[in-house]
Amino acid sequence: MNCDKCGKKAVIELKYMGKKLCKSCFSRIFERRVRKNLRGTVNKKEPVAVAVSGGKDSMVMLHLLNRWEYNITAICVDEGIESYREHTLSAVKTYCSEHKIPYKIFSFKEEFGITIDELKERKKHPCSYCGVLRRNLINRKVKNIYSKIIMAHNLDDEVQTLIMNFFRGELERMARAGLKVGIKDIEDFVPVIKPLRNIPEKEIVTYALIHNIPFANNECPYSFTAYRRDIAHCLNFLENKHPGTKFAILSSGDKLAEILKSYFLTGAKPDKCRICGNICKGDICKVCELLKEISS
Ligand code: SF4
Ligand code: ZN
Repeated sequence: MNCDKCGKKAVIELKYMGKKLCKSCFSRIFERRVRKNLRGTVNKKEPVAVAVSGGKDSMVMLHLLNRWEYNITAICVDEGIESYREHTLSAVKTYCSEHKIPYKIFSFKEEFGITIDELKERKKHPCSYCGVLRRNLINRKVKNIYSKIIMAHNLDDEVQTLIMNFFRGELERMARAGLKVGIKDIEDFVPVIKPLRNIPEKEIVTYALIHNIPFANNECPYSFTAYRRDIAHCLNFLENKHPGTKFAILSSGDKLAEILKSYFLTGAKPDKCRICGNICKGDICKVCELLKEISS
């Protein structure tokens, strides 16, 4: 199989484009897409935090931002998941040390007094707790130091989340979809940029392998709720039969988000949690609610 652009040996077939590509033609297209997402959303000089787990997506993101000389600091979260997080964190530490990228690690145990392993003994599905606590921790540690948080969610993640929100009727969450996620004019909330959100997972793995970008390949033992796995399975089936389906869903979701934004995100000042002072809806924020629930 030869590259449809230059005739060299092809390494990947992008069915939605109807093209087979060699290493360099594929890399050029891949990088062009990421650069386009960064242009207009992140300034090279501003200090930004990159949320890095050590997996393929965040390691590719870190690699590109560092190569393109953005002003980055890697932010890692240790949720306390034995036989998993220590491996992924060690991949990040080694890479950052070798490439002289500053990094910071924050732990659930130190910040919230509980690990996800401990939480799993009390709660069947720790992922929803884990996600809320992680977002809160990163936002808290990053605000007033970095102007933006870069997250490496890929196309597959984004489309799965969109469909799950739709099926569950979570329209307010759907309103927050987009390249730049944030609440306008609220200084407590650091905007999140997702420059890989229109790049399929398979292409990120291919890019990492071509460019020898190390990444931790192990999965969190609690990873993927059965529901997300089923949604991913259906989406992959559709994508194989009808290439371009995931891009089409992303684009429809973004259009819908624009309409939903004017309904839900009106710019009205949100409440502040009476326990911790975080911005929230109502009296107590989600984190304090969770911590209260856990400790009871
Ligand atoms: Fe946390 Fe779930 Fe992700 Fe594991 S899979 S790190 S428990 S959100
Ligand atoms: Zn609170």
